[in-house]
Amino acid sequence: MTTSELALRGKYAYSFPELGKVEVTKDPLIIIENSEIVAMGSYKETKSELAGHDLIGNKETDVLIPGLINTHTHAAMTLFRGIADDLPLMEWLEKYIWPMESHLTPEDVFYGARLAALEMLRSGTTTANSMYWHPEKEAQAFVELGMRGVVGYPVLHPIAEYKRDDAFVAKWHQSHNGLIRVALQPHAPYTVTNEAYQTLYDLLLEYNEKYETPVLFHTHVAETKQEMEAIKKFAKEMGFSIPEEINTPTQYLDSLGVLDQYTVAAHCVHTNEKDIEILKSKKVGISINLVSNLKLASGIPPLPRYLSNAVKTSLGTDGASSNNRLDLFETTRLIALLYKGLHYSPTLLPISEAMYLATAGGAEVMHMEKIGQLKQGYKADVVSLSLDTVEMQPIYHERSALSHLVYIGERNHVKNVVVNGTLVIENKQPTKVAMNDITRSFIKASTSLYERI
Ligand SMILES: [Zn+2]
Repeated sequence: MTTSELALRGKYAYSFPELGKVEVTKDPLIIIENSEIVAMGSYKETKSELAGHDLIGNKETDVLIPGLINTHTHAAMTLFRGIADDLPLMEWLEKYIWPMESHLTPEDVFYGARLAALEMLRSGTTTANSMYWHPEKEAQAFVELGMRGVVGYPVLHPIAEYKRDDAFVAKWHQSHNGLIRVALQPHAPYTVTNEAYQTLYDLLLEYNEKYETPVLFHTHVAETKQEMEAIKKFAKEMGFSIPEEINTPTQYLDSLGVLDQYTVAAHCVHTNEKDIEILKSKKVGISINLVSNLKLASGIPPLPRYLSNAVKTSLGTDGASSNNRLDLFETTRLIALLYKGLHYSPTLLPISEAMYLATAGGAEVMHMEKIGQLKQGYKADVVSLSLDTVEMQPIYHERSALSHLVYIGERNHVKNVVVNGTLVIENKQPTKVAMNDITRSFIKASTSLYERI
């Protein structure tokens, strides 16, 4: 069943429209038509609109939430998951990741991204911002599974300099009923020259004049402590200079004039007060990738300082080779725990803030105004989780179920997933492509890739 004329029922629905705010609907009914939520309220109030819709969900056990938004990943890096762990970043890249990447084919990327899309959807993630090679193959994979995605050509010296490709943008941006968008993707300030950043930024302005929905500017920023040294070394090699007074990656990018509201800055682990002021005043959107930062020993991003300074903030997983799960439920639980312990403050990152960052906060960073909330007139990106498990008990009231979402909830509780009005996961199974097909073709592609290196 993949009709767009759907209706969803549950025990509670939650939406997190602002940092710290929770909207609860008891005994909710969501009516969907043509990719949108056309009505939402209690079953009693809304049931008159139900005629002609296929009703799914369980009013005793299901919790409905907005689809989660992963604002930074490299989808097809599922192909490198577990190839090598517990190593310093450069050794890991040079010995394992780059040799494999040099043998990648477009088909490998397609199968890798398809597995990633399936994993994300089954974890309740309905939108992903992905930076990876052969972005058209990632887009195809997202479309095939019915996931919302942002894709684009990575720019990374010396592997890939930017080649203007208007046809790619025209073909994919806002395509497939708005499911796919495009981003310009300069990899990082230590792999992309000042000139290349500025050329891309000029192009961004041009595209954003032309297109109705924004093209994003997606880049890694301030991931490691040594990044500024790496930028200076790169600048020297490439023959350009950086003014002496600039001593952070954020200030460097700002000096190039390339930070604005369309920037999605992945990581931002190492930022000082001045950097935070820049990120705030330029309305840059941040993607926090805590699990990857922990695994690669990059440090811990100052998330509470971003929130207290009203910097636009969201959550990402990073690629499956440095996380290794594409699972935002794990991330919300981790941020809700880690910062409390780190700052001796049990009130930091409460449930309402953790869930905001994974939903409406992500929508704001991605400039997708009509997703991230359960609300009439919004796109129907809805996830249901089942409370019908041993560990989700007891459920005294709506606050218990909300607590379980963050402190107990995990991807295995995700039951049904609707994206853009289409039921794409039904009872944990993908509806558009058989699960077997996705996993078997991925195993075949990854085995063959491994044999080629
Ligand atoms: Zn990354």
